[in-house]
Amino acid sequence: MDERGELLERAAALIAAWEGRFGPVEPHPASVPDTDRLEAAWGAFGERMADHYPFFHPRFAGQMLKPPHRVAAAGYLAAMLVNPNNHALDGGPGTTALEVEAVDALADMFGLAQPRLGHLTSSGTIANLEALWVAREMTGGKAVVHSELAHYTHDRMCRVLGVEPRAVAADAHGRLDLDAVEAACRGGDVGTVVLTAGTTGLGAIDRVDEALALRERYGVRLHVDAAYGGFFTLLARGADPLVAGEPFAAIAQCDSVVVDPHKHGLQPYGCGAVLFADPSVAAVYAHESPYTYFVPADLHLGEISLECSRAGAAAAALWLTLQVFPLHAGDGLGPMLAASRRAALDLAARLRSDPGLTLHVEPELDIVTYFPSRPTLSDVDAATERALAVGMADGADPVFLSTIRVAANAFAQLHPGIVRDVDAARVLRSVLMKPEHETNVGDLHARLSRLAEEVSAAG
Ligand SMILES: *Cc1c(COP(=O)(O)O)cnc(C)c1O
Repeated sequence: MDERGELLERAAALIAAWEGRFGPVEPHPASVPDTDRLEAAWGAFGERMADHYPFFHPRFAGQMLKPPHRVAAAGYLAAMLVNPNNHALDGGPGTTALEVEAVDALADMFGLAQPRLGHLTSSGTIANLEALWVAREMTGGKAVVHSELAHYTHDRMCRVLGVEPRAVAADAHGRLDLDAVEAACRGGDVGTVVLTAGTTGLGAIDRVDEALALRERYGVRLHVDAAYGGFFTLLARGADPLVAGEPFAAIAQCDSVVVDPHKHGLQPYGCGAVLFADPSVAAVYAHESPYTYFVPADLHLGEISLECSRAGAAAAALWLTLQVFPLHAGDGLGPMLAASRRAALDLAARLRSDPGLTLHVEPELDIVTYFPSRPTLSDVDAATERALAVGMADGADPVFLSTIRVAANAFAQLHPGIVRDVDAARVLRSVLMKPEHETNVGDLHARLSRLAEEVSAAG
């Protein structure tokens, strides 16, 4: 059996031993599956599950997807067999304690001062919703400013909350234009500024450090959406940082921050987190629940969470993972992120000397964007579309890619030689989020080069 199989067996054995303490339970006949149906279902299930891209493989670099670490999977499985609910303390006493410790580790990673407040969520979407909801309550419903390149959830959730979302321009590198933000703040009706530490499209890092002055001048709240990029904070410290240090260091001075352990924290889906610098925002969540809470002296995560039922297994998996891969730069999670970051730098360097492909923007994290070299924007867009179609369609030997739309004015600054005959063009995008990408960059680049030639030859 491989290491994953062993860990999963260990998880099942751990829970079987715990169950054994309470005496045997004979399954009810009605709950025993029919053998033939089970066999048939399992066969059909296997076929359905084959219909996935190989997210685990270093050749897959198309989207922000990878399997959980096998340690996380084992922790999740063990806790899921118990099925605690981290809504209420008596729903999951053990996993609630694990959540408090895991969230503490995340808050320490960002350098948030004690005391602070936070909890896990089922996603970055919900974590951002909570941060924007708290912001609405703390600012009397004033407008929320976000970058046009922020995750689209901010615009949508502002509308859910009945708060005005105001999108402002990003610069050619994909970073929020802080002069435009300041102009918006001067009106006096802006309550919150959303900064993104690692945009989902380009991996651009907004200048959180420079935005701190806006709070001084205009009293706005600062919320950092670090759903994707947050764990790169680990690489921002130290003598030779692999990412820009100042924006990540400034997160500690902001009012709230979101990070997704299910993106760069090795977790299965269902694990986001929201953290608040000021623990008194807990008052915003105040409510009376007549039936869930039996131990009022202790903290109930349900008292500080918008969601009610939440998987205790998500907390267990994160806690176990962080014991084995602590949030350190030099060991634990850091070296895995460093490998991804080096992979992105390596691919960018190779693209810079590739005659058929052009690096779009210098990668700030582990997302690399590039396009087939062409004289006009419409040609770039068409060639990108063909590369995606040809690369992904090659059944036996696909090149996994994604695309992102880039506005013409960004091209004007970064690639002035390209004729801007349309408003925008798609470019190709690779997400090198697995440490194994580091040793696979040469192969990936060779495939991309061949694909560019193929697309070129076809017209
Ligand atoms: C992924 C992402 C989100 C949304 O989070 P989900 O976990 O997918 O719900 C929000 N903001 C950023 C920057 C993201 O990368």
